[in-house]
Amino acid sequence: MAQIKPTNGNCPDCGKPISGYNASSRDYGSPIKTCKCCGQQYLDRRYIELAVEPPDPSDLSAATGLKMALIGLGMFAVSGGFTLFTIHFRGYYYRKMAFVAIASIVVMLFGIIDSIRTKTGAKQKSLDKKREASEQRLMDRAYAQQLADLGYNVPDKYL
Ligand SMILES: [Zn+2]
Repeated sequence: MAQIKPTNGNCPDCGKPISGYNASSRDYGSPIKTCKCCGQQYLDRRYIELAVEPPDPSDLSAATGLKMALIGLGMFAVSGGFTLFTIHFRGYYYRKMAFVAIASIVVMLFGIIDSIRTKTGAKQKSLDKKREASEQRLMDRAYAQQLADLGYNVPDKYL
């Protein structure tokens, strides 16, 4: 089998760009992908294979949601204060700041929901499901061997 090469946004074999590629994004799934143009396999390290890799730390930490909630609160305090201050002008800035105040409430809510999901273990449950799917993929010995050949720390039970 041909050596699987890592991608940097283009297919390493035919050079065609991978649609929607964003170097900083992270997702769960198999890091071995197939090019839609040439059919060759390539390695996409943005995908985390949970059976052999740890999850993204931000998916385990309540700090991510709390940070978001605090940013939203700060934004709300500033824009809300400014909205109240300009309320009797009823002009352009008033509407703009009222919009920012509403947007910051949304940010705050997302942050609160995120930290609740972390605290209640909903995030952990969703990660557990993804890990199970990952373990299922690893049951395929040829696939497990491919990952091992690529330098992944594959447990012996899969090989
Ligand atoms: Zn290709």
